[in-house]
Amino acid sequence: MSSLGNRLLFATHNAGKVEEMRALFAPHGVTLVSAQELGLGEPAETETSFVGNARIKAHAAAQASGLPALADDSGLCVDGLDGAPGVYTADWAEGPGGRDFMRAMTRTHEALVSARAPEPWTAQFQCVLVLAWPDGHDEVYEGSVAGRLVWPIRGKLGHGYDPMFQPDGKRQTFAEMEPSEKNGISHRARAMQALLAHRFT
Ligand code: IMP
Repeated sequence: MSSLGNRLLFATHNAGKVEEMRALFAPHGVTLVSAQELGLGEPAETETSFVGNARIKAHAAAQASGLPALADDSGLCVDGLDGAPGVYTADWAEGPGGRDFMRAMTRTHEALVSARAPEPWTAQFQCVLVLAWPDGHDEVYEGSVAGRLVWPIRGKLGHGYDPMFQPDGKRQTFAEMEPSEKNGISHRARAMQALLAHRFT
């Protein structure tokens, strides 16, 4: 296993994600620096899979910085829509006035209704983490959480599609849960647990 060293680059410009990851790595003596702090650009995500897009971001950051680099890519895959929106999850929020996740959730609901998808509307949030080294090799870690989509949406917490997603075994949507409860079972937390178990146990 290649050494991680004590400095790891996180290939994101999302400050919230940096804080979340920083807290997870700190107990292991790894300091996280963000792509934004190093002034690195954001490469275009041109692949059609989560792992493909996470690889683009992780390898670009490792090459530019000379440090091992971590990148993530995530989204919502709806069974009744053949896995859509998938890698286009964020794009479904785009429209006049910028990103709007009420628009994205409405679009998802309308697509299910027009496809006459039978209920329950099962779906999964998926997350892929790629850890890439400057020499070009990488490791891939995945996490997912299964649930169903509800309509009307419920809850005001969280972000993105959280008000529409009720994980299996829970009565609340992600947007009705305390962040600590969501963060214990989320796709991102599970991918991180896989990385930490492989790297630090
Ligand atoms: P990214 O991983 O930041 O590129 O996110 C991709 C898209 O999936 C974004 O539109 C997010 O809003 C959505 N998404 C990813 N994870 C979650 C989540 O935990 N809750 C709600 N939406 C999410």
